[in-house]
Amino acid sequence: MSYKRSKKIKLTKTAKMLLSTLMIGIVLISLSFYHSDKNLENEIHEIKEEENYTLKIDYPKLANKKIEKEVTDYITEAKEEFLTTAENLKGVTQTKLDLSITYSLTSLFDYQALHVNIYSYTGGAHYIKEDKSYYFNPETGEEINLLNFLANENKLQDLSNLAYYYTVKYYQDENREYDDEWIKEGTSANIEHFSNFNLNENGLELSFAPYQVGPHSDGEITIMIPETKLKGIIKEEYLSIEPENVTTSTPQKRDLSKFQDKKLLAFTFDDGPSDGPTNKLLDNLDQYDARVTFFVLGSRVNTYSKSLKRAYEMGNTIGSHTYSHLNLFKLGDYDIMKEINNTNDEIEKIIGIKPQYLRAPYGNTNEHIRSLSNMYSILWDVDTEDWKYKDAEKIKDNIVSHAHDGAIILLHDIYTTSVEGALLAMEELKDEYAFVSIDEMIELKKANLDPTKSYFNF
Ligand code: ZN
Repeated sequence: MSYKRSKKIKLTKTAKMLLSTLMIGIVLISLSFYHSDKNLENEIHEIKEEENYTLKIDYPKLANKKIEKEVTDYITEAKEEFLTTAENLKGVTQTKLDLSITYSLTSLFDYQALHVNIYSYTGGAHYIKEDKSYYFNPETGEEINLLNFLANENKLQDLSNLAYYYTVKYYQDENREYDDEWIKEGTSANIEHFSNFNLNENGLELSFAPYQVGPHSDGEITIMIPETKLKGIIKEEYLSIEPENVTTSTPQKRDLSKFQDKKLLAFTFDDGPSDGPTNKLLDNLDQYDARVTFFVLGSRVNTYSKSLKRAYEMGNTIGSHTYSHLNLFKLGDYDIMKEINNTNDEIEKIIGIKPQYLRAPYGNTNEHIRSLSNMYSILWDVDTEDWKYKDAEKIKDNIVSHAHDGAIILLHDIYTTSVEGALLAMEELKDEYAFVSIDEMIELKKANLDPTKSYFNF
């Protein structure tokens, strides 16, 4: 399996010591002790900004400890490999390296699918993307694969033929060059060739890792085998899936005239949605007559769809923070658009509308990215550095001391301390300020947005 991860870096003792010291130093753990999904117990976030690299990892903590260990081992290995590279390249290159690991947990009939996406940038033209998916029975922990969904084992050959046909079709439709033999080999009847799949109302979606069906530069290839072709191949009970209807109630709209004599503040929360912190914030907004804005990650939207829906229905503004939190400056146009479009699609699936506002990760945007996105670029002018301090009082002080009319405040609703800091600040500022969403801020300030610009405040 030439396209599979084969490299195992052997670490020297010093490197190991260095790594463990680094790890102890860098782990900024935030646990959310909410249990709305019994399979996803909580999560751990690691974030680090060093001189020569950034690292951002979200780990799921699962009720199923066996799967959790496999996932944690996989992520840890990727992280150690990245940190070793970063250490080796320190002082050698000016390039800022980047590691971003996100996950999503979705239901697949009686099973669960956990997808882990690893993006690493260690120089050169592209991010290296690696995905791994785990399919398991949440009750028993039993791991399954695509064979589980086939009518019988002999159908693997039929599936392989279809995969070959639709992969060639994909390349032809895209007007891209392809290597017939390569595709044949990469889609041959070996269950490991189909380790990343999804079944939905359109049919069977298969993703092939870079190098599986074409050169590495082709990136990950995703094809869709239509449902009509799957009769007799996929078990009957897994076909004819009804598309899920979006059922959101119309978001609450507030009478904004009551805020006319007040200064305005827009609290914005990135990197979510989450379970505990997002809900804690939503629980407390009415107390301060507040509405806020969430710049959500496309990769998390499905996993935390309940929080997103609730935030939207309450009348908060939902914006995009892209799919995988990558540095857009390091991506080609196609990948930039994919990061943006996939997120918009995911959000639309949950709340019924696409977001209008984009906040590029790290604020890394420019005229070119803005024109590709065709969305309004919203940045910030008050950076609380909440992810660094994890201290509600300090975060509150940062907000209070920098607050001004029209300010946009940057926070993250994956940390309970950030939410607590925001609420403490609202308590202190409530007589002087009204806390409004970006939509409301724009309306109250009568701003006419220009998609070619970025907005830091209003
Ligand atoms: Zn972010």
